[in-house]
Amino acid sequence: KPMLQINSLKKQYGSSTVALNGIDLEVHPNEFIAVIGPSGAGKSTLLRCINRLIDPTEGSISFQGQEIVGAGKKQLRQIRSQIGMIFQHYNLVDRLSVLENVLHGRLGQMSAFNGVFSRYSEADKLAAIALLEKLGLEEQIYKRADELSGGQKQRVGICRALAQKPSLILADEPIASLDPNSSRIVMDSLHANCIEQGIACLVNLHQVDVAKRYATRIVGIKSGKVVFDGKPEELTDRM
Ligand code: ADP
Ligand code: ADP
Repeated sequence: KPMLQINSLKKQYGSSTVALNGIDLEVHPNEFIAVIGPSGAGKSTLLRCINRLIDPTEGSISFQGQEIVGAGKKQLRQIRSQIGMIFQHYNLVDRLSVLENVLHGRLGQMSAFNGVFSRYSEADKLAAIALLEKLGLEEQIYKRADELSGGQKQRVGICRALAQKPSLILADEPIASLDPNSSRIVMDSLHANCIEQGIACLVNLHQVDVAKRYATRIVGIKSGKVVFDGKPEELTDRM
């Protein structure tokens, strides 16, 4: 059974922009899905609806049997704890160390802003360090986040998502700001860890060649609709 089931999802911004125009999508455990399509197609809106960073206009999103659209604050927190997010611009807290960014997780930004930090155990700390080492960041652990290169920052972003032990990761254009070499390292890390840990992944990508290299399945979106959903080798040049 699918871990994520999206039905007739619509999102309209303001009175005229229809960003999603009836999306149906099922995601199963262990799938590594590349979402491709031109700029403005609705890829980012789709991911943001799944985590309820924004509210859809219509439709339903069910995650592990729980309805996300209309979920209350407490239920939403529980759902979000199982969904890791990775952003194009990393969303790290510049003045915190790399390790602190991983430990304080996605709420780090808010926590830093409020001057309140989440608690973590010694075991959490060791696990975070092990993850950072695994992703080749042993030299960066105690550096401030803003001392890192883009590729290193995104690997921290991946560690932060993985540290959450999510069942699903949503990555919104994770390599759009990176050079080809960093992009390869970031995608290798994301892909390998998701596969190894059985984490389903939806990753928005611009580059079709990158999508084909990593994805078990490709979803093509155009003008807010799914125009392709299949295996990478089934994707023709017409997409
Ligand atoms: P993609 O990620 O595929 O580039 P987006 O989901 O960012 O596409 O955008 C889909 C459409 O929605 C575009 O027409 C975009 O201009 C519009 N859009 C995205 N975010 C907003 C917003 N916050 N307010 C108004 N329009 C938006
Ligand atoms: P809680 O549900 O714990 O009360 P909020 O509902 O106030 O927290 O909002 C926190 C949520 O905001 C996170 O769960 C996450 O999904 C989302 N979020 C939005 N932007 C970011 C970001 N830049 N980094 C991390 N999380 C973000």
